[in-house]
Amino acid sequence: MQHSNIVGGSTAKRVIACPGSVALVNKMPRQPSSEHADRGTLLHNAISEILEGRPEVIGSRYEDQVLTQELFDEKIVPALAALDEIDPKQEMVYEVETRVGFGDLLPGVFGSTDLVGRIGDRAVVLDWKFGDGVVVAAEENPQLMFYAAASMRTDAAKWAFDGAKELELIIVQPPVIRRWVTTFDRIKQFEQELVQAVKAAQQPDAKLQHGDHCRWCTGKPICPKMTGAVDRALQVQLKDVDVDMLGKYLKNADLLEDWIKDLRGLAVQLLEKSLPVPGYKLVAKQARRQWVSEQDAAEALEFLNMNPYKQELISPAQAEKELKKRKLALPPELVVSVSSGTTMAPESDPRPAVVQIGQQLTAALSKLQ
Ligand code: SF4
Repeated sequence: MQHSNIVGGSTAKRVIACPGSVALVNKMPRQPSSEHADRGTLLHNAISEILEGRPEVIGSRYEDQVLTQELFDEKIVPALAALDEIDPKQEMVYEVETRVGFGDLLPGVFGSTDLVGRIGDRAVVLDWKFGDGVVVAAEENPQLMFYAAASMRTDAAKWAFDGAKELELIIVQPPVIRRWVTTFDRIKQFEQELVQAVKAAQQPDAKLQHGDHCRWCTGKPICPKMTGAVDRALQVQLKDVDVDMLGKYLKNADLLEDWIKDLRGLAVQLLEKSLPVPGYKLVAKQARRQWVSEQDAAEALEFLNMNPYKQELISPAQAEKELKKRKLALPPELVVSVSSGTTMAPESDPRPAVVQIGQQLTAALSKLQ
């Protein structure tokens, strides 16, 4: 999915609160996708397909993610049930995954709405949230307000608002639905805040303001509000980052990470002893399905003509252990050590530094010239 490099739905809150973040974020390298994000995209794609009348989604893929029956039951089924609750008579006219923007008012500012619809006199803007970690509210949600404002200015979506008497913004975070009925005036007011923030972001001295919106800001590592070096960092370009300063901050980061770990540990300890920690509570981790009785399950599945067991090759370490007992050695030609990637370590680490392939190639090519 293409994203605006100024502001989109998911970044509206940050840009309004911290216009200076636009320039900082644009100096950072593009973030690689994550397993979590890919899973979200897979689920968004699947529900769009279903709502557009193509229900065969089990087995569909996005990057390394596959939509299994279990994932479908866990996320898609309750999401569709939520839609039935929102629109019990199935009278909603809607469209999904619509690219919406602000035209000449804010060139280059756009996003993609999950669902824009109309039920009777009510316009609906709905966003699916398939992650479990962060609870997302609908009330005063800047992402939903962004989509509502942009939809009203987009030919492909404005029909949902024409003549509507009310406007409902909805978050479906399966199995929970959060709804907020708001006014068109509130959306216009939000749009003005957005326009001001985008204009402010274009100024060389755009304001930086930290807050909970910093959590998802990819400009954090070079943000002066985070490092305290305001004047210097306002001029900074990524290629010009002071590497001595970076090394120093990394040492501080190690200290800080330990401090955060201990702080969290202490809070959990207090909560487990039923002592209050303002703003926090203990909740159950995500439930995973398991067999009530493995033996009963195996017998039942065999009865259904299924082989309930899978065969796996043992690891080199397990084979070596077993062979040792028989006083035999593991044939070395059977094994190769493969690193799962690179990790950062202090200079004092005994392992040799990895030379990046790109650097090797550049060095080799420069010798050929
Ligand atoms: S980390 Fe926070 S203060 Fe810094 S640029 Fe990002 S949003 Fe602004």
